[in-house]
Amino acid sequence: MKLLKGIGVSPGVVIGRAFVLDDVALHIPRRHVSEGDLPHQHDRLDAAVAASIDELQTLRDRVAQELDPEAAKILEFHMVLLGDPHFLEPVHARIEQERVPAEWAVTTEIQGMADKFRALDSEAFRSKVSDLLDLDRRLLRHLVGETQSRLKQVEGEVVVIAHDLTPSQTVGLDTNHVKAFVTDAGGRTSHTAIMARSIGIPAIVGLERAMADIFEDDLLVVDGDRGVLIIDPDEPTLAEYTKRIEARRSYELSLVDLAKAPAVTTDGVRINLYGNIEFPFEVELVDRFGGDGVGLYRSEFLFLAHDRDPSEEEQYEAFRDALRMSGAKPLTIRTLDLGSDKYTQRRAEAPERNPALGCRSIRFCLQNLPIFKTQLRAILRASVEGNLRVMFPLVTGPLELRQARMVLNDVMEDLHEEGVPFNRNVPVGIMIEAPSAAIMSHAFAREVDFFSIGTNDLIQYTLAVDRTNERVANLYSAAHPAVLRLIKDCIRSGRRGGIEVSLCGEIASDPDYIMLLIGIGLRNLSLVPSAIPDIKRVIRAVDTRHCELIARKVGSFDSERQVLNFIRDETRKVMPEGYDGRSVEGGVA
Ligand code: PEP
Ligand code: MG
Repeated sequence: MKLLKGIGVSPGVVIGRAFVLDDVALHIPRRHVSEGDLPHQHDRLDAAVAASIDELQTLRDRVAQELDPEAAKILEFHMVLLGDPHFLEPVHARIEQERVPAEWAVTTEIQGMADKFRALDSEAFRSKVSDLLDLDRRLLRHLVGETQSRLKQVEGEVVVIAHDLTPSQTVGLDTNHVKAFVTDAGGRTSHTAIMARSIGIPAIVGLERAMADIFEDDLLVVDGDRGVLIIDPDEPTLAEYTKRIEARRSYELSLVDLAKAPAVTTDGVRINLYGNIEFPFEVELVDRFGGDGVGLYRSEFLFLAHDRDPSEEEQYEAFRDALRMSGAKPLTIRTLDLGSDKYTQRRAEAPERNPALGCRSIRFCLQNLPIFKTQLRAILRASVEGNLRVMFPLVTGPLELRQARMVLNDVMEDLHEEGVPFNRNVPVGIMIEAPSAAIMSHAFAREVDFFSIGTNDLIQYTLAVDRTNERVANLYSAAHPAVLRLIKDCIRSGRRGGIEVSLCGEIASDPDYIMLLIGIGLRNLSLVPSAIPDIKRVIRAVDTRHCELIARKVGSFDSERQVLNFIRDETRKVMPEGYDGRSVEGGVA
């Protein structure tokens, strides 16, 4: 039995067999293979080489006929290299000596060779580097492509192990078979983590050593509540976890009744609880869990779930369906928040050096007007179907907001001229995710109908901590006094400007933060739908005056540790017996 600690990002406990997922696009993991599997690895290498030579032959013939004989010669050179036993011998040797999968041996050998060529003082050798890298990619595609498609053939229930998963890969997991996933990379509020919560399976990220320590088919216990992964559990551990799975089932059943109860504090203050969704069908989930509408519809997931951009019609249909399901309740559509860790594969081909500070969100939209306008047309066309609100992500200054509004007005004019009906008075809001927006919130409050504080990004930009980087995950905290001060500023600006302020980052689903957020004046939260009953339970147990006292006390602390310890203790005092805390930040066991 072995225990690994990571960051629990989606709650729940699962016992299942390991399915190791390799991915060429991200990282080739160094995983160990058993001695018995070595012949299979040699066969895989041979098959990938044969398939690559076939592919190159077809390509060479076509290029020779249609294009340039010089280009055909390059492809011939690739074929010669692949056919040369000296070229492949070290790869086979590495598989044997290091007991590693074929893809690891290929990429390590070829990259090593490329490094040596690069260092040589001969232009002839240096020019071969790109050929080597090309061959590396071609072989990996054959090797890893095969592993990936294995996931589609999975039967029975498995736990997926990967170095990392992109949000779109996470969306693509078939939850009939995949019961949990764990990754070596990733942070608490990465979009992969958010997706895990939304598809409702337990997940742990930031494990660092899972790929190295786990063999395919190992028995695993994934404890998403505590961020603990147990490899090959002994009998007492298995028995204990089986009991916990049962206990958890009855706790969740007890939450069902809460869904229908109002989110009102003991002194009668109503807190609106909205849902964060990625897909239209989740509107129904928000309703089932007793939510008041949708506070954040991450519309970019329409783009991430496919490898091409969805058409205006496809987007319109998604928005229309979501609105029809919402009835009179509000549906807040956030315009495209692509970029940073939310890239479609196609766009990722030209990665930015520092994408979190690059062309993402509203900046991406303002630089790609056709995509932006198509989406706004779809949103506005759907606006006649219900209570729709539009929200722009990562606005950093008033000029940016005005530009976005101008595009929205242009689209309105176009629709008007075409005689297409839409709601001209659709409420327009912004997400506050950058410190600049929080500091300028008094100015924004004069120009928009509502704010939604996106703490996931606000924390990363305020504290200079990448939200997806497991190495700095311990520094990422909403309890940091600087973050809390910015949240307070936004609430004050919203109150003075007479507009609604909501908070839609992951801390809205963290029970430990609820009293503090109510205490600093928040009355609207937007969170993952399945967490709504849990948060209602906290709200119904507290009184706002007590929450204000807590907020005042927190205001006197100067470290996130003090804040976190204090709000945890206070939450435990008001919660019923049996509550074990499911803090997002408590995930690091
Ligand atoms: C946020 O940044 O808090 C947020 C809700 O947006 P996302 O997590 O999609 O970046
Ligand atoms: Mg964000």
